[in-house]
Amino acid sequence: MSETTPDSGLPPLHGHENARDALATAWKRGRLPRTLLLHGRPGIGKQRLAHWIGQLVVCTEPGSEGPCGRCRECRLARRIEHSGIHWYMPLERPRSRGSRDRNAEALEDARIQWIEEARRTPYRPRRHDIVRGLHLGTVRNLRKSAMKGAGPGGKQLFILADAEELVAQEASQEAANALLKILEEPPEGTWFVLTSSEPGRLLDTIRSRSTALHLTGLDESRLEQVLTDEVGAPAEEAARAARLAEGSLGRALGLLSDDGDPGPLEAIRQDAFHLLRAALQPEPGARFLRALTYSPSGARTLTELFSALEIWLRDLGAAASGHRDSILNADAADWLMKQPDRLPLDPAGPARAVAAVQKAREEAAGNVNPQLLLTGLMRALNGALLHSRS
Ligand SMILES: [Zn+2]
Repeated sequence: MSETTPDSGLPPLHGHENARDALATAWKRGRLPRTLLLHGRPGIGKQRLAHWIGQLVVCTEPGSEGPCGRCRECRLARRIEHSGIHWYMPLERPRSRGSRDRNAEALEDARIQWIEEARRTPYRPRRHDIVRGLHLGTVRNLRKSAMKGAGPGGKQLFILADAEELVAQEASQEAANALLKILEEPPEGTWFVLTSSEPGRLLDTIRSRSTALHLTGLDESRLEQVLTDEVGAPAEEAARAARLAEGSLGRALGLLSDDGDPGPLEAIRQDAFHLLRAALQPEPGARFLRALTYSPSGARTLTELFSALEIWLRDLGAAASGHRDSILNADAADWLMKQPDRLPLDPAGPARAVAAVQKAREEAAGNVNPQLLLTGLMRALNGALLHSRS
């Protein structure tokens, strides 16, 4: 099936060939699971594949490779306009804290706006500075819509993106129960696709009702090609972003510059570099000052900072073992290669430091103060990376 870049709507689907084959075969045999869980790293196209599954379900002439791509249903699906494909995602908490119904309405308006933006801008980096959640109102809206049943085509598919965001909020049990009820007894002709980059945070009850499918990203050269040919990035920038994004188109988009400004993930990458440098300082004062540059709330927005920090630490490990070619932050390769001579770097340090970042990542899922969390993390990094000088 050939796919061209649309004027508006979903970007072309890349990769996931094995998953697509398996899904198309399952569909043909009438064996597509009622609830699928697509999991894998952020930005690798889980929601894009979920839309493809929606297209597969509504297509009037699906083949062995998937939806035909030509019928009316396929065209509507590609434009994110198909009435049988419903897309739900984490959203900001509505500002009007009114009644349940008012909240649910505000969330529905925000969801429609989100979809309109996605339609207008097929390639858009994800915002990392906003705390979003799957609120009870969103789940109630989804449930209400699903209970109405499928329209004229007789089939409907619901996408619930970042399903792990059901847990990190109050009233989560109620939201989870509302979702569980509909997953347990889906109306006739209804399928669900959940996506998650942190399946470990999913509620057990939800995970146990889904058939999991693990997805991986694109290889570096293919990602680079998508960035130059479709997104229109300059070759050098595309190469740099593809290397750092490790197969994730969503990440790569955030690393590209935006009208001369660094992209949101590029800013975070530089931020993570300063955090690492502060962590390597002997005086706790430098680390404390660095931590104070962060907001005292919103720890859940730090996920990407931790991912960037992990790459810096792995690069430091590569430098410590003399593997310059393995360094992903290629622009800082000279600085990285100098550190093992300059510092009392413990050879096992970078691996221990990555473990400390993972621990901080788990803590950030709760409602902790980012300044305290990062002060503690930098202290842990310092202890993990350096031999004591005494
Ligand atoms: Zn079709």
